Amino acid sequence: MRNMRVLISGASVGGPALAYWLNRYGFEVTVVERYAGLRPGGQAIDVRGTALEVCERMGVLAEIRAHSTGLRGMSTVDGDGKELSSTTEWTASGGRLDRSDVEILRDDLATVLVGAGGTDGKGVEYLFDDSIAALAQSTGEVAVTFRSGLSRTFDLVVAADGVHSSTRRLVFGPEENFLRPLGGYLAVWTVPNYLGLDRWQMAYLMEGDGPWGAMVMSVRDNAEARVYVGFDSDEPPARVLGDRTVSEHKRLVAEVYADARWEMPRLLEYMWGAPDFHFDAIAQIHMDSWSRGRVALLGDAGYCGSPASGQGTSMALIGAYVLAGELKAAGGDHTTAFAAYERELRDFVTANQNLALTNRERMEAEVSEGDQDAYTDDFYQVVNSLALKDY
Ligand SMILES: Cc1cc2nc3c(=O)[nH]c(=O)nc-3n(C[C@H](O)[C@H](O)[C@H](O)COP(=O)(O)OP(=O)(O)OC[C@H]3O[C@@H](n4cnc5c(N)ncnc54)[C@H](O)[C@@H]3O)c2cc1C
Repeated sequence: MRNMRVLISGASVGGPALAYWLNRYGFEVTVVERYAGLRPGGQAIDVRGTALEVCERMGVLAEIRAHSTGLRGMSTVDGDGKELSSTTEWTASGGRLDRSDVEILRDDLATVLVGAGGTDGKGVEYLFDDSIAALAQSTGEVAVTFRSGLSRTFDLVVAADGVHSSTRRLVFGPEENFLRPLGGYLAVWTVPNYLGLDRWQMAYLMEGDGPWGAMVMSVRDNAEARVYVGFDSDEPPARVLGDRTVSEHKRLVAEVYADARWEMPRLLEYMWGAPDFHFDAIAQIHMDSWSRGRVALLGDAGYCGSPASGQGTSMALIGAYVLAGELKAAGGDHTTAFAAYERELRDFVTANQNLALTNRERMEAEVSEGDQDAYTDDFYQVVNSLALKDY
């Protein structure tokens, strides 16, 4: 086996899943995470289709199900809080409730994946509160300098550091070359479950351009709630995200929602003190190639589908399985393995990224029940469309 020492940047979904598989196959794995521990926060994300099979093969599916949000349904309200509709068939965040999908908080999923470790008893090395500052590839290895000043060499590096991957920037160039905005922004933060939601989601719908409204859902056995807001905007992400601080992003959300009714004033009050506020563009990453030399991209860093696709997490889990498997199958030969990883996944990724476009169109159009059913069938056909190889 060649290329044994692998450095993975990012410990969220793709990173720990890849670390698990590589460690199981006998590679020496180090994961570097910028945050000082596993990063808290983020929305409820969905594991569905082929990704459920990946979790089963990792032996973590039962644990993931045990941490699921367990939502029973959702209701919609107007600005006065008057209920407009109520259903136990689906939720805005997780989709249909009669499917085997798992909706779980991103940080809970990360904890389960990291805990899965390896099976050879050796474990994975985690470096928290650090990141790759520079890397230099030579024919035999990659020399990495970390932000902390540490210098080490690895055989391979995998960027699993999200849509704004700085590893991708170091190796492939500026983000603008690969980021495709879908015309909106999304913010998520934690609030107390003061609405007394019992495994329930409430959505306040606003009409017209601009803010879409707000969605609040109870999580962690109703102990807390997560708030989601989003708005249309054609402002380029480089300008809106740029070097702005978290406080500036909060101020932007407060401005966009200044006239919103229902519980918005109170939810915005909580936003100011929320330590896990997450704000980002709804955008995708499109790359001609997912590797350059000894560096490969995984998950959002290489092929972000955006929240609108509902498949970012599943693509990261499946990508980790395939990348590790191809490295094992190629005896560690990265040139062969990286090409096979891309061959195996490219069509699946394209189809899943396209879901974001149909999802956004569907959100904007009035759809009949029949159209909705047809859409749901098409959606599941795509998310189930990859047959996993055995490695
Ligand atoms: C805090 C947070 C909140 C999120 N909230 C949402 C949301 O509300 N809606 C949604 O659709 N998706 C959200 N996502 C993205 C979602 O988690 C991913 O689409 C999906 O899970 C794919 O995972 P990934 O592992 O490829 O990337 P991500 O989950 O984005 O993970 C990237 C990881 O890399 C780390 N990292 C970033 N830069 C560096 C660096 N330079 N060096 C080392 N580590 C680095 C991050 O801290 C993070 O742990 C969020 C991600 C994060 C990190």
